[in-house]
Amino acid sequence: MFDLINMKVYPIHPFADSVQCCLFCADLRYCAPIVKSRSVPAQASTCPCGRLNTYETCCGVFHAGTPAPTPEDLMRSRYTAYVLQLGPYLLDTWASQTRPPQMDFAEDGGIKWLGLEVKRAYVEGERGVVEFVARYKVAGRAHRMHETSRFTREADGRWYYVDGEVEGA
Ligand SMILES: [Zn+2]
Repeated sequence: MFDLINMKVYPIHPFADSVQCCLFCADLRYCAPIVKSRSVPAQASTCPCGRLNTYETCCGVFHAGTPAPTPEDLMRSRYTAYVLQLGPYLLDTWASQTRPPQMDFAEDGGIKWLGLEVKRAYVEGERGVVEFVARYKVAGRAHRMHETSRFTREADGRWYYVDGEVEGA
């Protein structure tokens, strides 16, 4: 595991029986069941995109300017940008031919994003596909959006969101 506080790599899990382990090492094999069995709210120790990393070491890296290396990373960071209402990031990572003129979160009806599950992600040359399910709540009612998004890698080497097909829409 990697200890973020002391910046050291441990061969074993020093906190294997404690919640502390989950907060720092993000090792799914050990930590996911521990998080569950102790009923620690997963949200408290994870990035909004669902990975067991803190926001700062996960989507926050991409929001700060580092290009997302894969379509899945970009998709996750865009989901987190919706959660945090980071309009400029969403526009910056939208392919120019499909990019809306602006992001208006005031018109989303008070949507509350609850979680993301990536079902499938692959890359073929300069194109990428990510299938995911995002859960959200509007006016107290829970919904799920099942979308297959398309991405393209442009001449600058960065991935961009092109469009998505929503299942059942
Ligand atoms: Zn993330």
